[in-house]
Amino acid sequence: MAKQQKKGILEKLAEGPVLGDGGYLLELEKRGRVRAGPFTPEVALNNPDALLELHREFRDAGAEVLQALTFYASRDKLATVGMEERVEELNRAAVRIAKKAAEDRCLVAGNLSLTWMYEPNDKAAADRVRKTFDEQLDVQVAEGVDFIIGETFSFLGEALLAVERAKATTLPVMVTVCFENEDITPDGKKAADVAKALADAGADIVGINCLRSPEHTLPLMTEMRKAVKSYIGCQPVAYRTTHEHRDFTSLAAFPDQLEPYQLTRREMADYASKAREIGVNYIGACCGAVATHIREMARALGKIPADDRVWKKGGEKPMSAYEYYGHDDKPKASGKGT
Ligand SMILES: [Zn+2]
Repeated sequence: MAKQQKKGILEKLAEGPVLGDGGYLLELEKRGRVRAGPFTPEVALNNPDALLELHREFRDAGAEVLQALTFYASRDKLATVGMEERVEELNRAAVRIAKKAAEDRCLVAGNLSLTWMYEPNDKAAADRVRKTFDEQLDVQVAEGVDFIIGETFSFLGEALLAVERAKATTLPVMVTVCFENEDITPDGKKAADVAKALADAGADIVGINCLRSPEHTLPLMTEMRKAVKSYIGCQPVAYRTTHEHRDFTSLAAFPDQLEPYQLTRREMADYASKAREIGVNYIGACCGAVATHIREMARALGKIPADDRVWKKGGEKPMSAYEYYGHDDKPKASGKGT
């Protein structure tokens, strides 16, 4: 099979927590490269350098996995922007760009996401979803992804279809669902039920991504940890959400006024430490998480050295506001790493 090469995701997870990457579409929207609204990933074709750069930022910040930007790169979603005939080309380009950024330093995950076509108890809809997933997977696997991430599924039923199709590739599979404003999926499942069902279906890593802040995600991860022995993964958003609006897309500020809600690097480092404490194996982030967050998470997890900040002190005249105002406390939540 594969020749001697970098460790696969399961080998890495066996050694300890793996650090994922951050969010792509919302950040690229801020950079003027993705359209808010459809949030389709044609940037891989129209502006490959912008995507390559963002991947490299995550890589250099310490991410151990880069996710190919094929979120919403399905035929039906691309049809909403008149690009349904470019499904293959787009999926191919996205994986190639991620691999180029990864070099030999990161694993590259193929990516499936919710299709908006799934209907509970509708066999024809399920078959359409299967076909949609297979169309993307065929291209991504041919391009040599290391494993598959299926993500942001509201319905457990659709997430299970992602497990089924991704497993058919024989690559390792991670599938994560999202919880909206209620702690239950639209098909009536709690976090523990979801984790069990996904693990029983054969997913190697199960968990939660997107929509919610770490604060509103970690309690559900704790329930998942108790429910399954398999690896669990967590990729929350880096936005502050409220109890009523736990799903950041339900905030009136979504999608283009979210800046005041963005979490600090310290808060995301704190999240990484807490996730490790409760036994999360794959620790990444989703929308709103940029390289700054991933770098502090990497430090909190001991993946990169602590930032031993030494600003000039003790001179007669301050050379920066740092000295002038005596900001000499070390960061509390991050920078431990050992
Ligand atoms: Zn997200």
